Order: sequence, then C-alpha cells, then structure tokens
Amino acid sequence: MPNTTHNKAAFIKDLLVWFAQSHRPLPWKDTQDAYIIWLSEIILQQTRVEQGLPYFERFRANYPTVKHLADAPEDEVMRMWEGLGYYSRARNLHATAKLIAYELNGEFPDTFENIRALKGVGDYTAAAIASFAYDLPHAVVDGNVYRVLSRYFGIATPIDTTAGKKQFRALADELLHSKDPATYNQAIMDFGATHCKPKQALCKTCLMQKNCAAFAKKKVYDLPVKSKKLKKITRYFHYLVINEGQDVWLKKRGPGDIWQNLYDFGLIEAPATLTTDELQKTEGWSALFKNTNVDIKSISRPFLQTLTHRKIVAVFIEMNIQKSFQPPDASYIKASRNQLDQYAFPRILNDYLNDNTLELFS
Ligand code: SF4
Repeated sequence: MPNTTHNKAAFIKDLLVWFAQSHRPLPWKDTQDAYIIWLSEIILQQTRVEQGLPYFERFRANYPTVKHLADAPEDEVMRMWEGLGYYSRARNLHATAKLIAYELNGEFPDTFENIRALKGVGDYTAAAIASFAYDLPHAVVDGNVYRVLSRYFGIATPIDTTAGKKQFRALADELLHSKDPATYNQAIMDFGATHCKPKQALCKTCLMQKNCAAFAKKKVYDLPVKSKKLKKITRYFHYLVINEGQDVWLKKRGPGDIWQNLYDFGLIEAPATLTTDELQKTEGWSALFKNTNVDIKSISRPFLQTLTHRKIVAVFIEMNIQKSFQPPDASYIKASRNQLDQYAFPRILNDYLNDNTLELFS
C-alpha cells in the first residue's frame, strides 16, 4: 500500500495544482467575512452546492449581516429555508444569529473552540470557518475527505468506527498545508465533490492517478469502507386536511420529531397505511373529532419523501367538518386557503399542495 512520506508530499502538491486549474468559483469563496462563510457552511451541510446556492443567495440578500438575520421573525426564516430539509439547521442558524448579535456584541467568534461551541456547528464546519475566515490550521474531515484519502492512500479502515475516525483525522491533520490551510481545505473539499466523486470518479483525467492506491488496485468503488449500512425505517402518515369554510386547519410541529416548527395538518401515524374505516376507529381520530361528523371528500394517492434515516409515506384525507372544529391543543391554527404560501411546510406537503391532478379545496 503506497502510504509513504513521498506520497503525502505528492498528494499535497498534486491537489494544489489541481485546485489552481479547476476550482469552482462560488460566491462565498472570495470573502473572509465569518458570518457569510458560516451561512454558506450551514446551508451546505447535507446539501449539494447546486441545491444550496440559490438559498445562500436569498439568505445573503435578505440578511446581509448577522443582525439582519437575528431580527428576522422565525417563521420567515423557516419559510426561506423551505425545501432544503434538515430544518434544525434553520432553527440553529436563527438562534446563533441572535446569540452573536445580542450576546457577543455582533462579533463572530474567532477561535476554533468558540466557533465549535455554536449551535449546529460540528468539527467539520468549525474547521472550515476557522480556516476560511481566520486562516487557522484546522483540517476539514467530511465524507469528501474520507473518500479522497481512503482511495488515494488505500485505507480500508471503516470510516464509521472510532479507529477509522482517529486514523483519518490524524492523516488529515498531517496533510494540512499549514501555511495556507484555507486553500488546502477548499482544495480537498472541491476535489472530493467534483473530481473524486462517489459513483463517477474522474480517474482517467486525474493527475493523482499515478500515486493513487485505489486506482492501482482497481478498488476505487470499494473505498471508503463503512461497517454498518443505514437501515431506513418507513413511517406511515395520514394527514387530515380539515376544511372549515374558506379556511383549513394547520398544525405547527413541536420538538422531538422531524420537521420541528414547520407546519403540517392533523396527523395520525400508524404502522401501515390504513383504510378510512380503519382510520376512523383509531384513538387519534376519536381524540380529534370526538362526536363531530366529518364529510370525507377525497383521499390522495400515497406521497413519498425519503430522509436520511426514514422514508415517509403520506396519504391526505380531505374533509369538510360540519360543526366548528375544536382543536385539542394550541398547536393548531386556522389558515386561509389563499394564504398557505405564508407557511413553511415539509416537502411532502408542498408536493401534495402542488399536485395539479388533485382538485384541492374545490
Ligand atoms: S485516480 Fe480516481 S480514485 Fe484516485 S484520486 Fe483520482 S479520481 Fe480519486
């Protein structure tokens, strides 16, 4: 396995040559404004650059400083985040903006440890901000870095084990080009994202090829190794779209589950998709409607949304209610059907609301 000092030096040299020739011009790369860099890094967590870019542009235009973001209403921030997923990022972003604006006198933290202490900031994001904004020597280690290093150096230690994490962290720290950590970090992130890609690595045109262990042993797609495969659990949602005149009842989602602070409808979850007869016999149905008569108008086809650890299957049962609906708690609100665009919904609700084959709310 070619894991020598020579290869480490060659890796750094070739990586920086590649970066000088191929790097992507992105709007957060030419700044050392820690707020803008932090904004871009939070948006890019779990998100591809092409998807995150328009969100970044919108956030930067609407909230050019941390104070603008801190002073924005939470519903507005959530609405602007809509469609990006992992909504805890938006809540953390907003909470952190308030902290910086009002408790840290508007000064973004300038050490790795203090950046790492911010909500929603892990080792990777803290290293990226510390190096890009302040030139601090902290190596980024994320999925891209695991992939590039495991392939180039031929390391088969599973990346989701303590030993693997330690080994890759040590190698990444050793490789960090300490005179210019920002350029090195950006280079390895870009190289992993655009060149040494998970499924279509551009080995043929790779100037790392001559020293790449995975290429030599035809193991490019066997690396990196993971010890466990994520098993996705399927959840079955039955959304109750309760119409009352021109209004519809929405529910603000609480803590302790996916999509906190987004809006959806009254929800009955079951171990499988239920028929309406079965649904009307559930405790959830009785608790919501007690003895009120409901007139079921339509039942949608199943809608699907895949999350990291979950698959959601949702059907939407649209109904008119005869008496006024008495919500069981304060998380329910009555909203005008014409103003639903003021609320942030999970993607699966937008898919349902935007499905032109359904005659919604007619
Ligand atoms: S040769 Fe292929 S696997 Fe090796 S670093 Fe280049 S793109 Fe990645």
